[in-house]
Amino acid sequence: MGEFDLIERYFKRPAKRAALGVGDDCALLRPTPGTQLAISSDMLVENRHFFADVDPATLGHKALAVNLSDLAACGATPLAFTLALALPGADEAWLAAFSSGLFALADAHGCELIGGDTTQGPLNICITVFGEVPVLNGKSQALLRSGAKAGDDVYVSGTLGDARLALDALRGTLALPTLAPPLELAPALPLALLAQTRQRLERPAPRVALGQALRGVATAALDLSDGLLGDLTHILKASGVGATLDTSLALNLLAARQHADWTPGLVSAQKQLECVLSGGDDYELAFTAPPSAREAVQTAARLSATPVTRIGHIELEPGLRLVDAQGQRLSGQFFSFDHFA
Ligand code: ADP
Ligand code: MG
Repeated sequence: MGEFDLIERYFKRPAKRAALGVGDDCALLRPTPGTQLAISSDMLVENRHFFADVDPATLGHKALAVNLSDLAACGATPLAFTLALALPGADEAWLAAFSSGLFALADAHGCELIGGDTTQGPLNICITVFGEVPVLNGKSQALLRSGAKAGDDVYVSGTLGDARLALDALRGTLALPTLAPPLELAPALPLALLAQTRQRLERPAPRVALGQALRGVATAALDLSDGLLGDLTHILKASGVGATLDTSLALNLLAARQHADWTPGLVSAQKQLECVLSGGDDYELAFTAPPSAREAVQTAARLSATPVTRIGHIELEPGLRLVDAQGQRLSGQFFSFDHFA
């Protein structure tokens, strides 16, 4: 099968929303008058972002999901995407599964594939998404990282840390390394619990509806891909503010803790906190809004059928402070993921 047959068979579908889709030198988009285009790219590299043996349908889902999550963070409505793909070979079973996972999520969000590039090489997937955000009275309604104000509440959508729990379980690194012998054996997660957390790792649900519902409500937002603390720091720096987070509230966001197979001591308290605070791969939204908007935030959550939890507040003093349920300051270091650190 040649390159063009491959594109024709697995990636070309009739354009619905775009003025011109796959097949020409450029695709043509018809942005709605009175909107701005929101654009974002994300690349997925084998052994860096996924295991070589990952289910291809799952990979197709995740490759688009992480991009849609960026549109969600900006409050944008998805329009279309391009797909640049390097493939070791034309494996038809792989391509069929990959494109089915990809298109299932694309269709669920009305986001169409309008073009791309296909080449032979080590497996590498790069997607660029295009969305739109309204401009009202000359002002863009896009949610940015830079609008958080002292006094604002800090919220997180959905659940946190389960993706990291699955990753650690799969890697066999769920136990924290202990310096003193005897070396602790890595505990395994019960199968049903592993299956649940693994869904969070492999099939994240981008919070697109919530992002749109938060336009005009949230003062700042971003999506959580590298871990809560590191990502939230981006909002704090961009906004020139600081924050205090209640770690006991954050800890409740670990969905695994509500699972029937969860038992105290299954995962150390330190590891739970690490998963929630610096796990990464959550693809939830973190956002800020003034206390006067608490009802509006709940309405946005209800309209988008997405739970949101208030876990802290913004302060003038720069930096990120962690407190426990009693308001006592926690020390200790939690790192967020940085590819070059
Ligand atoms: P060009 O050489 O002019 O850049 P190509 O020959 O690479 O174009 O691609 C032919 C058409 O197929 C273009 O419309 C391109 O956008 C599309 N295309 C290529 N690869 C993909 C892909 N993986 N998914 C969707 N469309 C693709
Ligand atoms: Mg060309």
